[in-house]
Amino acid sequence: MVRIQIYHRIYKSRTLGLVKLKSRAALRIYILIIGLTGGIASGKSTAAKLLGTWGAYVIDADKLGHRAYLKDTEAFQQVVTTFGEGVVGDDGEVDRAQLGSKVFGGENRMAELTAIVWPAIRKMAQTEIDSALSEAPDRVVVLEAAVLIEAGWQDIADQVWVVVVEPATAIERAQERDGVEASAVQARIDSQLTNQERTNQADQVIDNSADLQAMEATLQSLWKNLPGASL
Ligand code: ATP
Repeated sequence: MVRIQIYHRIYKSRTLGLVKLKSRAALRIYILIIGLTGGIASGKSTAAKLLGTWGAYVIDADKLGHRAYLKDTEAFQQVVTTFGEGVVGDDGEVDRAQLGSKVFGGENRMAELTAIVWPAIRKMAQTEIDSALSEAPDRVVVLEAAVLIEAGWQDIADQVWVVVVEPATAIERAQERDGVEASAVQARIDSQLTNQERTNQADQVIDNSADLQAMEATLQSLWKNLPGASL
């Protein structure tokens, strides 16, 4: 079958998308934004780094989180109003240790904090995605976010990729990476979504139980099948 492939750009409501017109006149919108998530030490950053070396524009939501409530931001004001002036350190910034002590152990308090911080991170992520795609509309953008599903950011992404390892492997790798107690890692695992809860939301599940070479091979085949991506 002869396929006529005409590429042209259209404006989608939230971003610039690349559309491929097939002979049957069916429109297929290219996958441009991947939401990459997974549990503690599952291998999200490792995967994001690889995708980055192949040309993806990677946004690390964790890093955005560190900027989310800097002095003079709206979120800063909300944090201070909600948790009190006591969370402001000598440098005028929110003292993370102080804030942590207010939030620790209180489920409602944590929910109050995430209600402030997650929308702020989402806004920054969206701004960065828009800017990355306006520079190069056909690039693949990866949003690496441990809380992608908890925060409900799946709708930002065209596809959700979930990296999974068994808890025992996560504990082993986190211990090796961070030098922490197994019980501390287990506590984090218990407080996070389960692999099953994440994979229920996944378009692609990346099993990272084996070695790094296997992870690279899995990712490579997913990457190669993305329209517009090349190695
Ligand atoms: P976190 O959310 O806790 O920051 P993460 O999901 O981003 O973690 P990584 O930091 O990518 O996970 O990986 C955790 C550790 O496991 C790292 O030290 C990484 O080098 C190592 N690692 C990742 N994948 C593999 C693998 N397939 N085999 C061996 N080690 C691996």
